[in-house]
Amino acid sequence: MSDVIIIGGGAAGMFCGVLAAEEGHRVTIAEHNEKLGKKLFITGKGRCNFTNNCTVEEFIGNVFSNPRFLYSAAYGMTPQDVIECFERWGLHAKTERGRRVFPVSDHSSDVIAAMERRLRKKGVTVLLKTEALEILSEDGAACGVRVRDEKGERILRGDCVVVATGGLSYPSTGSTGDGYRFASETGHSLKETAPSLVPVVCREEYIKEMQGLSLRNVRLTVRSGKKTLFTEQGEMMFTHFGITGPLVLSASAAAGSLIGKKTLETEIDLKPALSEEQMDARLIRLVTENPNKAFHNVLHELYPKKMHDVIPELAGISPDKKLHDLTRGERAELIRVTKHFPLTLTALRGYNEAVITRGGVSVKEIDPGTMESKKMKGLYFIGEVLDLDACTGGYNLQIAWCTAAACARGLPAG
Ligand SMILES: Cc1cc2nc3c(=O)[nH]c(=O)nc-3n(C[C@H](O)[C@H](O)[C@H](O)COP(=O)(O)OP(=O)(O)OC[C@H]3O[C@@H](n4cnc5c(N)ncnc54)[C@H](O)[C@@H]3O)c2cc1C
Repeated sequence: MSDVIIIGGGAAGMFCGVLAAEEGHRVTIAEHNEKLGKKLFITGKGRCNFTNNCTVEEFIGNVFSNPRFLYSAAYGMTPQDVIECFERWGLHAKTERGRRVFPVSDHSSDVIAAMERRLRKKGVTVLLKTEALEILSEDGAACGVRVRDEKGERILRGDCVVVATGGLSYPSTGSTGDGYRFASETGHSLKETAPSLVPVVCREEYIKEMQGLSLRNVRLTVRSGKKTLFTEQGEMMFTHFGITGPLVLSASAAAGSLIGKKTLETEIDLKPALSEEQMDARLIRLVTENPNKAFHNVLHELYPKKMHDVIPELAGISPDKKLHDLTRGERAELIRVTKHFPLTLTALRGYNEAVITRGGVSVKEIDPGTMESKKMKGLYFIGEVLDLDACTGGYNLQIAWCTAAACARGLPAG
């Protein structure tokens, strides 16, 4: 069997390490952190949404970049296979809303521990505080890695090198983009990277007044001209700079490359369950029941407190106006602001706040069945370092697991 060096002990590196060792290969993982799986630890707000219990077609449908590249890998390690693997390794899973899968314990550390136990059992060598510096090759084939640890620099020799270094997001977890350098140094093309699944900066000053406000069951829509780039219902939040939350992260991925470059028409439907007619009927009822109340005294019936200054201002209605004086035109304005609350997206926040990195090693130069480079024999790329990214919901880790599995099973017999 082969001597395999895996650079990076994150999700993809650990999973590949276990499966490659199960195949009988001699595996070494070089990880520059002091422990494995630092990013995995913070996934899913510490609970690790480690896959999505959906079909392969649905998984592929939730991948933004290069979904077709993933077909072979995705069928080779389906979400159900992942759940079964982890069950076999002692981790019990549960499926929640949106078919998101978590450990029953709600602890991401248990996902890491399950793989660590398995790595130990299969005799995988784990080198911590060991930074890969350079990929070495001989006659056009990868043959080792130059690393640096506490004792200095040395060479790890192997038949195969697997790059599992992640992207650029949350660099404090160790993913500092080294894999991109290794890729270009070994002759690979890179698709320009950008933060994705990331909060978004908005221009409007009134955003600040709503800082901390969380909205549930609202619809966020982003359009470019006549084209709808994103429209979904869910949860979002206002911050000091703009907006965040699950809806916003997904919108950032769908509209990402255009944000800041083009004017995108963006709006929130604050009451998606009500049609404009139903909303008008609701307003008429409010007026009939409270004719002498001032507008500001009924706002709490319609909007959360942090919107009480913004809504009258945007609708152009004096907060002191008595309800019986509210004109049909003012009602129409109020409906417009409620169903089409306006926002201007000006920029994405940075990698420090991004769940994933869009772009990376071009998949055109990678064999989709084994993740081996078409440019250098014995060199493999798996996980987020590749130009692959998906929605929230466990799909990004599913990319890490299935590319890792394809690689582990595609390693040569030696
Ligand atoms: C806050 C947050 C929450 C998330 N939640 C979810 C979720 O719930 N579900 C989901 O599906 N996805 C989630 N993701 C995305 C998911 O974490 C990533 O898609 C996944 O971790 C990618 O796995 P990877 O192994 O490719 O990279 P990583 O997990 O980033 O691992 C890369 C490893 O390589 C090491 N490394 C890098 N360079 C070197 C070097 N030169 N030498 C040695 N080691 C090196 C790093 O230290 C790191 O340990 C989340 C991401 C973030 C930031």
